[in-house]
Amino acid sequence: MSEEANPFESLQEQVDDAAAYLGVDDGVLERLKHPERVLETNLTVELDDGSLETFRAFRSQFNGDRGPYKGGIRYHPGVSRDEVKALSGWMVYKTAVVDIPYGGGKGGIAVDPREYSDDELERLTRSFATELRPLIGEDRDVPAPDVNTGQREMNWIKDTYETLENTTAPGVITGKAPDSGGSAGRVEATGRSTMLTAREAFDYLGEEIEGATVAVQGYGNAGSVAARLVERELGATVVAVSDSSGAIHDPDGLDAAAVKDFKDETGAVTGYDDATEELSNEDLLTLDVDLLIPAALENAIDDDVAEDVSADVIVEAANGPITPDADDVLTERGVEVLPDILANAGGVTVSYFEWVQNRQRFYWTEERVNSELERTVTEAFDALTDAYEERGLPNFRTAAYVVAIQRVVDAYRQGGTWP
Ligand code: GLU
Repeated sequence: MSEEANPFESLQEQVDDAAAYLGVDDGVLERLKHPERVLETNLTVELDDGSLETFRAFRSQFNGDRGPYKGGIRYHPGVSRDEVKALSGWMVYKTAVVDIPYGGGKGGIAVDPREYSDDELERLTRSFATELRPLIGEDRDVPAPDVNTGQREMNWIKDTYETLENTTAPGVITGKAPDSGGSAGRVEATGRSTMLTAREAFDYLGEEIEGATVAVQGYGNAGSVAARLVERELGATVVAVSDSSGAIHDPDGLDAAAVKDFKDETGAVTGYDDATEELSNEDLLTLDVDLLIPAALENAIDDDVAEDVSADVIVEAANGPITPDADDVLTERGVEVLPDILANAGGVTVSYFEWVQNRQRFYWTEERVNSELERTVTEAFDALTDAYEERGLPNFRTAAYVVAIQRVVDAYRQGGTWP
Protein backbone atom coordinates (compact mmCIF):
# COMPACT_ATOMS: atom_id res chain seq x y z
CA MET A 1 0.00 0.00 0.00
CA SER A 2 1.15 3.52 -0.76
CA GLU A 3 1.34 5.87 2.20
CA GLU A 4 -2.00 7.66 2.78
CA ALA A 5 -1.98 10.98 0.88
CA ASN A 6 -2.57 14.21 2.81
CA PRO A 7 -5.59 15.80 1.05
CA PHE A 8 -4.28 19.32 1.60
CA GLU A 9 -1.04 18.43 -0.20
CA SER A 10 -3.12 16.80 -2.96
CA LEU A 11 -5.08 20.02 -3.44
CA GLN A 12 -1.87 22.05 -3.60
CA GLU A 13 -0.40 19.68 -6.18
CA GLN A 14 -3.54 19.91 -8.33
CA VAL A 15 -3.39 23.71 -8.23
CA ASP A 16 0.34 23.73 -9.08
CA ASP A 17 -0.19 21.34 -12.00
CA ALA A 18 -2.86 23.51 -13.60
CA ALA A 19 -1.36 26.90 -12.72
CA ALA A 20 1.79 25.92 -14.68
CA TYR A 21 -0.30 26.15 -17.87
CA LEU A 22 -1.51 29.64 -16.98
CA GLY A 23 1.77 31.23 -15.91
CA VAL A 24 0.25 32.49 -12.65
CA ASP A 25 2.82 34.61 -10.81
CA ASP A 26 4.29 33.19 -7.65
CA GLY A 27 2.71 35.67 -5.25
CA VAL A 28 -0.75 34.93 -6.54
CA LEU A 29 -0.08 31.19 -6.72
CA GLU A 30 0.66 31.10 -2.98
CA ARG A 31 -2.71 32.71 -2.38
CA LEU A 32 -4.42 29.99 -4.43
CA LYS A 33 -2.88 27.25 -2.27
CA HIS A 34 -3.57 28.43 1.29
CA PRO A 35 -6.74 29.28 3.21
CA GLU A 36 -7.42 32.85 4.26
CA ARG A 37 -8.34 31.71 7.78
CA VAL A 38 -9.18 28.58 9.74
CA LEU A 39 -11.27 28.41 12.91
CA GLU A 40 -10.20 25.54 15.16
CA THR A 41 -12.28 25.15 18.27
CA ASN A 42 -13.52 22.83 21.02
CA LEU A 43 -17.17 22.00 21.51
CA THR A 44 -17.92 20.78 25.02
CA VAL A 45 -21.29 19.08 25.09
CA GLU A 46 -23.35 17.48 27.83
CA LEU A 47 -24.19 13.87 27.01
CA ASP A 48 -27.48 12.22 27.97
CA ASP A 49 -25.89 10.60 31.05
CA GLY A 50 -24.83 14.02 32.37
CA SER A 51 -21.13 13.65 31.53
CA LEU A 52 -19.25 16.15 29.36
CA GLU A 53 -17.37 15.42 26.14
CA THR A 54 -15.22 17.76 24.07
CA PHE A 55 -15.05 17.55 20.27
CA ARG A 56 -12.60 19.19 17.85
CA ALA A 57 -14.29 21.33 15.22
CA PHE A 58 -13.05 23.42 12.29
CA ARG A 59 -14.20 25.92 9.67
CA SER A 60 -11.80 26.89 6.87
CA GLN A 61 -12.50 29.97 4.74
CA PHE A 62 -10.18 29.34 1.84
CA ASN A 63 -10.82 32.11 -0.66
CA GLY A 64 -13.51 34.78 -1.01
CA ASP A 65 -12.39 36.56 -4.19
CA ARG A 66 -15.53 35.51 -6.12
CA GLY A 67 -18.10 35.82 -3.35
CA PRO A 68 -19.09 34.53 0.11
CA TYR A 69 -17.25 31.43 1.34
CA LYS A 70 -19.40 28.40 0.55
CA GLY A 71 -19.20 24.75 1.49
CA GLY A 72 -20.49 22.00 3.70
CA ILE A 73 -20.06 20.80 7.26
CA ARG A 74 -18.96 17.20 7.76
CA TYR A 75 -19.39 14.95 10.81
CA HIS A 76 -16.81 12.16 10.69
CA PRO A 77 -14.13 10.75 13.00
CA GLY A 78 -11.51 11.44 10.30
CA VAL A 79 -12.14 15.20 10.21
CA SER A 80 -8.87 17.11 10.69
CA ARG A 81 -7.52 20.58 10.10
CA ASP A 82 -5.77 19.53 6.88
CA GLU A 83 -8.80 17.67 5.57
CA VAL A 84 -11.04 20.70 6.11
CA LYS A 85 -8.44 22.98 4.49
CA ALA A 86 -8.32 20.71 1.42
CA LEU A 87 -12.10 20.43 1.17
CA SER A 88 -12.47 24.21 1.43
CA GLY A 89 -9.93 24.70 -1.38
CA TRP A 90 -11.76 22.23 -3.59
CA MET A 91 -14.91 24.33 -3.01
CA VAL A 92 -13.14 27.44 -4.36
CA TYR A 93 -12.37 25.70 -7.65
CA LYS A 94 -15.74 23.93 -7.74
CA THR A 95 -17.76 27.15 -7.48
CA ALA A 96 -15.45 28.73 -10.08
CA VAL A 97 -15.71 25.89 -12.60
CA VAL A 98 -19.52 26.05 -12.56
CA ASP A 99 -19.27 29.86 -12.44
CA ILE A 100 -21.49 30.60 -9.45
CA PRO A 101 -20.65 33.73 -7.41
CA TYR A 102 -19.05 32.15 -4.36
CA GLY A 103 -15.68 31.49 -2.83
CA GLY A 104 -14.92 28.29 -0.94
CA GLY A 105 -15.16 27.12 2.66
CA LYS A 106 -15.66 23.89 4.60
CA GLY A 107 -16.21 22.82 8.16
CA GLY A 108 -16.33 19.69 10.19
CA ILE A 109 -16.56 18.07 13.59
CA ALA A 110 -14.42 15.06 14.47
CA VAL A 111 -17.27 12.80 15.61
CA ASP A 112 -18.90 9.54 14.65
CA PRO A 113 -22.57 10.59 14.75
CA ARG A 114 -23.76 6.97 14.94
CA GLU A 115 -22.48 6.83 18.52
CA TYR A 116 -24.65 9.69 19.80
CA SER A 117 -28.35 10.24 20.39
CA ASP A 118 -30.41 12.78 18.45
CA ASP A 119 -30.49 15.08 21.48
CA GLU A 120 -26.72 14.90 21.86
CA LEU A 121 -26.24 15.67 18.17
CA GLU A 122 -28.59 18.63 18.45
CA ARG A 123 -26.61 20.07 21.37
CA LEU A 124 -23.35 19.47 19.47
CA THR A 125 -24.70 21.16 16.34
CA ARG A 126 -26.08 24.16 18.21
CA SER A 127 -22.77 24.51 20.03
CA PHE A 128 -20.93 24.55 16.69
CA ALA A 129 -23.43 27.07 15.28
CA THR A 130 -22.75 29.34 18.26
CA GLU A 131 -18.99 29.19 17.57
CA LEU A 132 -19.62 29.84 13.85
CA ARG A 133 -21.99 32.74 14.37
CA PRO A 134 -19.43 35.57 14.11
CA LEU A 135 -17.95 34.07 10.93
CA ILE A 136 -21.02 33.11 8.92
CA GLY A 137 -23.85 35.15 7.35
CA GLU A 138 -25.83 35.37 4.14
CA ASP A 139 -23.16 37.58 2.55
CA ARG A 140 -20.17 36.23 4.43
CA ASP A 141 -19.95 32.45 4.68
CA VAL A 142 -22.79 30.05 3.87
CA PRO A 143 -22.43 26.45 5.14
CA ALA A 144 -24.33 23.41 3.80
CA PRO A 145 -24.53 19.64 4.28
CA ASP A 146 -21.64 17.26 3.67
CA VAL A 147 -20.79 13.73 4.83
CA ASN A 148 -23.20 12.62 7.63
CA THR A 149 -25.09 15.92 7.82
CA GLY A 150 -28.37 16.87 6.15
CA GLN A 151 -31.53 18.90 6.45
CA ARG A 152 -31.90 18.30 10.18
CA GLU A 153 -28.48 19.75 11.06
CA MET A 154 -28.95 22.67 8.64
CA ASN A 155 -32.32 23.52 10.22
CA TRP A 156 -30.70 23.54 13.70
CA ILE A 157 -27.87 25.79 12.54
CA LYS A 158 -30.29 28.21 10.85
CA ASP A 159 -32.47 28.30 13.96
CA THR A 160 -29.51 28.89 16.30
CA TYR A 161 -28.15 31.67 14.11
CA GLU A 162 -31.51 33.39 13.67
CA THR A 163 -32.30 33.16 17.38
CA LEU A 164 -28.95 34.63 18.42
CA GLU A 165 -29.11 37.36 15.76
CA ASN A 166 -32.79 38.10 16.44
CA THR A 167 -33.61 38.06 12.74
CA THR A 168 -34.68 35.82 9.88
CA ALA A 169 -31.84 34.95 7.54
CA PRO A 170 -32.61 31.64 5.80
CA GLY A 171 -29.77 32.22 3.31
CA VAL A 172 -27.20 31.83 6.12
CA ILE A 173 -27.14 28.12 5.34
CA THR A 174 -28.34 25.88 2.50
CA GLY A 175 -29.56 22.31 2.28
CA LYS A 176 -32.45 23.05 4.63
CA ALA A 177 -35.78 21.20 4.66
CA PRO A 178 -38.35 22.73 2.29
CA ASP A 179 -40.50 24.13 5.11
CA SER A 180 -37.45 25.84 6.58
CA GLY A 181 -36.50 27.56 3.32
CA GLY A 182 -34.90 24.65 1.47
CA SER A 183 -35.04 24.30 -2.29
CA ALA A 184 -36.80 21.68 -4.35
CA GLY A 185 -34.22 19.35 -5.91
CA ARG A 186 -31.42 20.06 -3.39
CA VAL A 187 -31.25 16.54 -1.91
CA GLU A 188 -30.81 14.97 -5.36
CA ALA A 189 -28.58 17.70 -6.77
CA THR A 190 -25.14 16.21 -6.13
CA GLY A 191 -26.04 12.85 -7.68
CA ARG A 192 -27.84 14.63 -10.51
CA SER A 193 -24.67 16.49 -11.50
CA THR A 194 -22.77 13.19 -11.44
CA MET A 195 -25.37 11.70 -13.80
CA LEU A 196 -25.26 14.75 -16.09
CA THR A 197 -21.44 14.70 -16.15
CA ALA A 198 -21.46 10.99 -17.04
CA ARG A 199 -23.96 11.67 -19.84
CA GLU A 200 -21.89 14.53 -21.28
CA ALA A 201 -18.62 12.60 -20.93
CA PHE A 202 -19.85 9.48 -22.69
CA ASP A 203 -21.28 11.62 -25.47
CA TYR A 204 -18.01 13.57 -25.81
CA LEU A 205 -15.95 10.37 -25.85
CA GLY A 206 -18.27 8.80 -28.44
CA GLU A 207 -19.32 5.98 -26.11
CA GLU A 208 -22.81 4.66 -25.45
CA ILE A 209 -24.12 5.23 -21.92
CA GLU A 210 -27.33 3.27 -22.46
CA GLY A 211 -26.61 -0.27 -21.29
CA ALA A 212 -23.17 0.74 -19.91
CA THR A 213 -22.17 -1.09 -16.72
CA VAL A 214 -21.63 1.00 -13.60
CA ALA A 215 -20.01 0.43 -10.19
CA VAL A 216 -20.63 2.88 -7.34
CA GLN A 217 -18.34 3.07 -4.31
CA GLY A 218 -20.22 4.64 -1.39
CA TYR A 219 -24.01 4.60 -1.03
CA GLY A 220 -24.82 7.75 0.90
CA ASN A 221 -26.70 10.66 -0.62
CA ALA A 222 -24.36 11.30 -3.59
CA GLY A 223 -23.76 7.65 -4.53
CA SER A 224 -27.29 6.34 -4.15
CA VAL A 225 -28.86 9.21 -6.12
CA ALA A 226 -26.22 8.99 -8.87
CA ALA A 227 -26.86 5.24 -9.14
CA ARG A 228 -30.62 5.72 -9.37
CA LEU A 229 -30.36 8.49 -11.95
CA VAL A 230 -27.83 6.80 -14.28
CA GLU A 231 -30.13 3.80 -14.22
CA ARG A 232 -33.44 5.64 -14.62
CA GLU A 233 -32.49 8.60 -16.80
CA LEU A 234 -29.62 7.19 -18.87
CA GLY A 235 -30.52 3.50 -19.07
CA ALA A 236 -27.19 2.35 -17.62
CA THR A 237 -26.93 -0.89 -15.60
CA VAL A 238 -25.66 -0.58 -12.02
CA VAL A 239 -23.86 -3.87 -11.40
CA ALA A 240 -22.10 -3.17 -8.08
CA VAL A 241 -22.37 -0.82 -5.12
CA SER A 242 -20.61 -0.59 -1.77
CA ASP A 243 -20.65 1.13 1.58
CA SER A 244 -18.52 0.75 4.70
CA SER A 245 -20.03 -2.73 5.25
CA GLY A 246 -18.63 -4.07 1.93
CA ALA A 247 -19.76 -4.39 -1.69
CA ILE A 248 -22.47 -6.27 -3.58
CA HIS A 249 -22.25 -7.35 -7.21
CA ASP A 250 -24.80 -8.66 -9.69
CA PRO A 251 -23.63 -8.74 -13.33
CA ASP A 252 -27.29 -8.70 -14.45
CA GLY A 253 -27.86 -5.41 -12.66
CA LEU A 254 -29.08 -4.32 -9.24
CA ASP A 255 -32.16 -2.21 -8.59
CA ALA A 256 -30.50 1.00 -7.32
CA ALA A 257 -33.60 2.34 -5.55
CA ALA A 258 -34.36 -1.02 -3.89
CA VAL A 259 -30.77 -1.25 -2.60
CA LYS A 260 -31.17 2.23 -1.09
CA ASP A 261 -34.43 1.20 0.62
CA PHE A 262 -32.67 -1.91 1.96
CA LYS A 263 -29.78 0.19 3.30
CA ASP A 264 -32.18 2.66 4.93
CA GLU A 265 -33.87 -0.25 6.71
CA THR A 266 -30.83 -2.28 7.72
CA GLY A 267 -27.97 0.24 7.75
CA ALA A 268 -25.91 -1.63 5.12
CA VAL A 269 -25.96 -2.63 1.44
CA THR A 270 -24.51 -6.07 2.19
CA GLY A 271 -27.09 -8.80 2.66
CA TYR A 272 -29.35 -7.07 0.11
CA ASP A 273 -30.19 -10.20 -1.81
CA ASP A 274 -28.98 -13.78 -1.55
CA ALA A 275 -28.38 -13.76 -5.31
CA THR A 276 -25.75 -11.03 -5.18
CA GLU A 277 -22.08 -11.81 -4.76
CA GLU A 278 -20.27 -9.98 -1.95
CA LEU A 279 -17.00 -8.25 -2.76
CA SER A 280 -14.45 -6.15 -0.91
CA ASN A 281 -14.38 -2.41 -1.54
CA GLU A 282 -11.10 -2.80 -3.43
CA ASP A 283 -12.60 -5.48 -5.69
CA LEU A 284 -15.40 -3.07 -6.55
CA LEU A 285 -12.91 -0.34 -7.50
CA THR A 286 -11.14 -2.67 -9.91
CA LEU A 287 -14.23 -4.31 -11.45
CA ASP A 288 -14.35 -4.42 -15.23
CA VAL A 289 -17.13 -1.87 -15.81
CA ASP A 290 -17.69 0.97 -18.26
CA LEU A 291 -18.17 3.60 -15.55
CA LEU A 292 -16.85 3.78 -12.00
CA ILE A 293 -18.35 6.34 -9.59
CA PRO A 294 -16.35 6.81 -6.37
CA ALA A 295 -18.84 8.42 -3.97
CA ALA A 296 -17.32 7.95 -0.52
CA LEU A 297 -14.29 9.76 0.93
CA GLU A 298 -10.86 11.04 -0.12
CA ASN A 299 -8.03 8.74 -1.23
CA ALA A 300 -10.22 5.79 -2.28
CA ILE A 301 -8.03 5.28 -5.35
CA ASP A 302 -4.30 5.52 -4.70
CA ASP A 303 -1.57 4.66 -7.23
CA ASP A 304 -1.66 0.94 -6.33
CA VAL A 305 -5.41 0.68 -6.91
CA ALA A 306 -5.12 2.86 -10.03
CA GLU A 307 -2.84 0.26 -11.65
CA ASP A 308 -5.70 -2.26 -11.39
CA VAL A 309 -8.67 -0.05 -12.29
CA SER A 310 -10.48 -1.69 -15.23
CA ALA A 311 -13.18 0.95 -15.80
CA ASP A 312 -12.96 3.11 -18.94
CA VAL A 313 -14.36 6.24 -17.33
CA ILE A 314 -14.40 7.48 -13.71
CA VAL A 315 -16.83 10.19 -12.64
CA GLU A 316 -16.03 11.48 -9.14
CA ALA A 317 -19.07 12.02 -6.93
CA ALA A 318 -16.92 12.19 -3.77
CA ASN A 319 -14.48 15.00 -3.06
CA GLY A 320 -10.86 14.02 -3.64
CA PRO A 321 -11.29 10.25 -4.15
CA ILE A 322 -8.24 9.95 -6.43
CA THR A 323 -4.75 10.87 -5.21
CA PRO A 324 -2.47 12.91 -7.53
CA ASP A 325 -0.15 9.88 -7.95
CA ALA A 326 -3.15 7.76 -8.94
CA ASP A 327 -4.20 10.49 -11.39
CA ASP A 328 -0.81 10.17 -13.11
CA VAL A 329 -1.25 6.41 -13.40
CA LEU A 330 -4.80 6.74 -14.77
CA THR A 331 -3.78 9.41 -17.31
CA GLU A 332 -0.92 7.18 -18.44
CA ARG A 333 -3.28 4.20 -18.74
CA GLY A 334 -5.89 6.18 -20.73
CA VAL A 335 -8.63 6.00 -18.08
CA GLU A 336 -10.76 9.15 -18.42
CA VAL A 337 -11.47 10.92 -15.11
CA LEU A 338 -14.20 13.54 -14.79
CA PRO A 339 -13.19 15.49 -11.71
CA ASP A 340 -15.13 16.09 -8.49
CA ILE A 341 -15.12 19.86 -8.91
CA LEU A 342 -17.42 19.40 -11.91
CA ALA A 343 -19.09 16.04 -11.28
CA ASN A 344 -20.39 16.75 -7.77
CA ALA A 345 -20.89 20.50 -8.24
CA GLY A 346 -24.67 20.03 -8.45
CA GLY A 347 -24.89 20.18 -4.66
CA VAL A 348 -23.40 23.62 -4.35
CA THR A 349 -25.12 24.80 -7.54
CA VAL A 350 -28.56 24.04 -6.13
CA SER A 351 -27.37 25.52 -2.82
CA TYR A 352 -26.80 28.69 -4.82
CA PHE A 353 -30.34 28.44 -6.22
CA GLU A 354 -31.63 27.92 -2.67
CA TRP A 355 -29.77 31.02 -1.48
CA VAL A 356 -31.13 33.08 -4.40
CA GLN A 357 -34.67 31.91 -3.54
CA ASN A 358 -34.10 32.72 0.15
CA ARG A 359 -32.90 36.23 -0.69
CA GLN A 360 -35.88 36.83 -2.99
CA ARG A 361 -38.37 34.98 -0.76
CA PHE A 362 -39.65 33.49 -3.99
CA TYR A 363 -39.51 29.75 -4.58
CA TRP A 364 -38.98 27.77 -7.77
CA THR A 365 -40.50 24.51 -9.01
CA GLU A 366 -38.36 21.37 -9.09
CA GLU A 367 -38.51 21.47 -12.91
CA ARG A 368 -36.98 24.93 -12.93
CA VAL A 369 -34.25 23.91 -10.47
CA ASN A 370 -33.36 20.81 -12.51
CA SER A 371 -33.30 22.63 -15.81
CA GLU A 372 -31.09 25.47 -14.44
CA LEU A 373 -28.81 22.80 -12.98
CA GLU A 374 -28.60 20.99 -16.30
CA ARG A 375 -27.69 24.23 -18.07
CA THR A 376 -25.02 25.00 -15.46
CA VAL A 377 -23.38 21.57 -15.67
CA THR A 378 -23.43 21.35 -19.48
CA GLU A 379 -21.98 24.85 -19.87
CA ALA A 380 -19.23 24.01 -17.39
CA PHE A 381 -18.53 20.75 -19.21
CA ASP A 382 -18.21 22.64 -22.51
CA ALA A 383 -15.84 25.22 -20.98
CA LEU A 384 -13.73 22.38 -19.60
CA THR A 385 -13.52 20.45 -22.88
CA ASP A 386 -12.78 23.68 -24.80
CA ALA A 387 -9.81 24.34 -22.50
CA TYR A 388 -8.75 20.68 -22.77
CA GLU A 389 -8.65 20.84 -26.57
CA GLU A 390 -7.37 24.38 -27.08
CA ARG A 391 -4.49 24.04 -24.64
CA GLY A 392 -3.75 20.37 -25.28
CA LEU A 393 -4.07 19.54 -21.57
CA PRO A 394 -3.19 16.08 -20.23
CA ASN A 395 -6.54 15.27 -18.61
CA PHE A 396 -9.94 16.68 -17.65
CA ARG A 397 -8.93 17.48 -14.06
CA THR A 398 -6.18 19.80 -15.21
CA ALA A 399 -8.64 21.36 -17.67
CA ALA A 400 -11.18 21.99 -14.90
CA TYR A 401 -8.54 23.63 -12.70
CA VAL A 402 -7.26 25.75 -15.60
CA VAL A 403 -10.78 27.12 -16.17
CA ALA A 404 -11.40 27.63 -12.45
CA ILE A 405 -8.03 29.15 -11.53
CA GLN A 406 -8.29 31.63 -14.38
CA ARG A 407 -11.65 32.83 -13.02
CA VAL A 408 -10.36 33.18 -9.45
CA VAL A 409 -7.22 35.01 -10.59
CA ASP A 410 -9.28 37.36 -12.78
CA ALA A 411 -11.57 38.23 -9.86
CA TYR A 412 -8.57 38.81 -7.59
CA ARG A 413 -6.80 40.99 -10.14
CA GLN A 414 -9.91 43.02 -10.91
CA GLY A 415 -10.24 43.80 -7.20
CA GLY A 416 -6.64 45.02 -7.16
CA THR A 417 -4.31 44.93 -4.17
CA TRP A 418 -5.18 47.20 -1.30
CA PRO A 419 -3.75 48.83 0.70
N1 GLU B 1 -20.84 19.54 0.62
C1 GLU B 1 -21.17 19.74 -0.76
C2 GLU B 1 -19.90 19.79 -1.60
O1 GLU B 1 -18.89 19.25 -1.23
C3 GLU B 1 -22.13 20.90 -0.97
C4 GLU B 1 -21.64 22.25 -0.55
C5 GLU B 1 -22.68 23.35 -0.61
O2 GLU B 1 -23.80 23.10 -1.01
O3 GLU B 1 -22.31 24.48 -0.25
O4 GLU B 1 -19.89 20.31 -2.69
